[in-house]
Amino acid sequence: MFQSFDATASPEQGPPRLAALRDVMAEAGVDAFLVPRADRFQGEFVAPADERLAWLTGFTGSAGLAVICLDTAAIFVDGRYRLQVRDQVAEDFAPLDPAEITPGAWLTENVARRAKVGFDPWLHTVDGITKLTKAVGDHAVLHPTHNLVDRIWTDRPAPPVQTVRVHPLELSGEKSSSKRERLARELKDAGQRAAILTLPESICWLLNIRGDGIPCSPVVQAFAILHDTGRVGLFSSPEKFEHLGPDPNIDLEGEDGFGRAVGRLEGPVRVDGQSAPWRVSEILQDRAVSGDDPCIMPKACKNDAEIKGMRNAHLRDGAAMVEFLAWFDKEASAGGLTEISAARALEEFRTQAGDLLDISFDTISGSGPNAAIVHYRVSEQTDRKIRPGELYLVDSGGQYIDGTTDVTRTLAVGEPSDVHRDRYTRVLQGLIAISLARFPSGRAGRDIDALARAPLWRKGLDYDHGTGHGVGACLNVHEGPQRISPAGMTSLKPGMILSNEPGYYRPGEFGIRIENLLVVREDGKTLNERDRLCFETLTYVPFDRRLIETRLLGPWERTWIDAYHSEVNEKLSGLLSASAKAWLDAATKSLG
Ligand code: ZN
Ligand code: ZN
Repeated sequence: MFQSFDATASPEQGPPRLAALRDVMAEAGVDAFLVPRADRFQGEFVAPADERLAWLTGFTGSAGLAVICLDTAAIFVDGRYRLQVRDQVAEDFAPLDPAEITPGAWLTENVARRAKVGFDPWLHTVDGITKLTKAVGDHAVLHPTHNLVDRIWTDRPAPPVQTVRVHPLELSGEKSSSKRERLARELKDAGQRAAILTLPESICWLLNIRGDGIPCSPVVQAFAILHDTGRVGLFSSPEKFEHLGPDPNIDLEGEDGFGRAVGRLEGPVRVDGQSAPWRVSEILQDRAVSGDDPCIMPKACKNDAEIKGMRNAHLRDGAAMVEFLAWFDKEASAGGLTEISAARALEEFRTQAGDLLDISFDTISGSGPNAAIVHYRVSEQTDRKIRPGELYLVDSGGQYIDGTTDVTRTLAVGEPSDVHRDRYTRVLQGLIAISLARFPSGRAGRDIDALARAPLWRKGLDYDHGTGHGVGACLNVHEGPQRISPAGMTSLKPGMILSNEPGYYRPGEFGIRIENLLVVREDGKTLNERDRLCFETLTYVPFDRRLIETRLLGPWERTWIDAYHSEVNEKLSGLLSASAKAWLDAATKSLG
């Protein structure tokens, strides 16, 4: 988990790879070439064969774009990677923030008029290229080409070998045939002949399948076409599916048949410009109509079977977390723990929990000032000792057969300071406010985001990230469109799963975040004649009592914490070792 991908360019390897790329750019007659972090499926987690940006530049963050010109080069990364990019890439790549200068604006300043800007049309979305084309105006021409990085990356790893398995009905809760009929009717009603599906998580949801071989995500890499008849054209490696036997309503072909099949479609064909490769719109031309991937909304609203699976996965995951917390308490006070050794131990406890497929993202294990870096990823270079008097933040999760977890706890090592306790308590109050929220249906994440911030705002404090993201059910740990954030425009609907993760960060000193997952439920009451919604908590892991400043809490907050802790105890104690059970009994006592 901590080995970065072995072909990542070191600061010394970056410049010769850049020179080799410029040679093939000159041969191909382009003046610039775009190297995105994304693969053709636009996922957060990519296979080693698709780590082109890391191979070329050394940058290993989850989002970024390098723009290579013949005599200059830039790498665009957002604010959270500002420090990391400086450490990882050679000076030949100027690190830039797209919030300060967009790639389009930078290109117009750095290429000659009518320059040709090459890009791989499978790796960029329809919306991405449309936006860039507008930004460069008539100054430059966007020019689809073969991937030029692949031409020089001679020892590129092979694509992942994946095993596909059926995600059974007791976990999916709805037969694939029923999902396909439902969505096909929606297409027919919209007068559309077919929809293009290019997100593996959508295809896995639709066909009730899961796979392995991609880090942290149990998806199967594939493209698909859903016809308005309910038939599906599936484009992947056929041998992955052989053992499942044929399905009369699924036409299976190799991935290279996808472009040709799109070419044969009669319009109108629904294309989601946010995720579909540019190449799809190039093939369809005026037969394409833009619309959301039809799987996204039904996938986001989990049914009872999916919620039940998530609850079960969270109990095993909670037990693994408690084993870890009990162990950590003993080991950390003795000294000798580091961020890496703690994260490795946690992963071991999760493996023992049962039915673990993989972790759901790279564990964030940060002590002291490292925890103030929101997306901190420990490496051999940054690993530090966990010292008494500091806070330790651990944000981690698992992919289990029946569900996906994502949980953050912040722990005191030795005696916490008054500031630690004050800030921790305010963050916890924010988490409680969301957990207790009641709101009419039709309201979106942006309408409740401030509830989590209010306890910090009262003290003139805030945090610089959203309060919550959507989470898949045995799918991606980050899933849209639901989110709790000032930018969360999607109405919250029953069955949607979200994280609730307020935080507080003091750069150079400490970081605090607490995170539970929640599922949106109807609470059986109405509000302004609309159904009223509330949250059910999925995560059961105790908070660190040493960090709770009880005099800051209102009576309802004390009641909530005590009730939560007694529920944690009740749900988990039967799943624990004797020593962890004794630890949990003490950790979940009433605040008194
Ligand atoms: Zn998390
Ligand atoms: Zn999260």
